[in-house]
Amino acid sequence: MGQSSHWKNGVVSTYILWDIDGTLIRNTAKAGTLYLDSIEQVTGARPTVRVTSPHGMTEGQLLLAILAANDLPADLLPAVLLRLDELSKEQHEAGWVRERCPGVREAIAEVSANGWINALLTGNGVNRARYKLLAAGIDVDLFDWEHSFFGAHSPTRHHLTADAGATLAGSRAFIVGDTPKDGEAADSAGIPFIAVATGAYGADQLRPTSALVVIDDLISGLDDLLVAVNQSIGTASTLR
Ligand SMILES: [Mg+2]
Repeated sequence: MGQSSHWKNGVVSTYILWDIDGTLIRNTAKAGTLYLDSIEQVTGARPTVRVTSPHGMTEGQLLLAILAANDLPADLLPAVLLRLDELSKEQHEAGWVRERCPGVREAIAEVSANGWINALLTGNGVNRARYKLLAAGIDVDLFDWEHSFFGAHSPTRHHLTADAGATLAGSRAFIVGDTPKDGEAADSAGIPFIAVATGAYGADQLRPTSALVVIDDLISGLDDLLVAVNQSIGTASTLR
């Protein structure tokens, strides 16, 4: 992709890359059910061994971990991901509802108002990401899907951020996420990180990350987020 696509009216584009789970929408205790359903429907056996710290993993990474923990073959992953997509569609069509994190709509509007581009960087697949946002009443047309990154097939979040860094070279980008893994993956790609404590990790647990700023939520922390991005734009170089 040519770097010229990241310029608009002579200004370098700035992408705000939103994580979804725990950042835009609330985690739920039932979140893993669909993974277990998908594996059960492909293998005929419901996994009994749980993966204890799934937060921040890509879907492919988590599914592989569940398969391994239950002595099921890794080469089932493509079939499981396909089934997961189908079950997500069924769930969506049945009127699935998810809870937005506080202040999400306002934060997305403020990003646009500052001339920055809302996009996604998530361990979910593209269809599942769309269904989750719709289920939480978030307007999917507010995101630049061409410059968004979906990690269902990525072995780790680092692969996802490496792709983002290469694709967005010449522009500026910031990752907003809710786990230390989001921060580590942002670091490895040289993308600045902003942490929000609406997921499984509290602000104290996120403070040791590289985050420019750690905010409690997108209401109380929105001004801090905007200031951090503005300050970084003033000093940081573009992605290389
Ligand atoms: Mg998350």
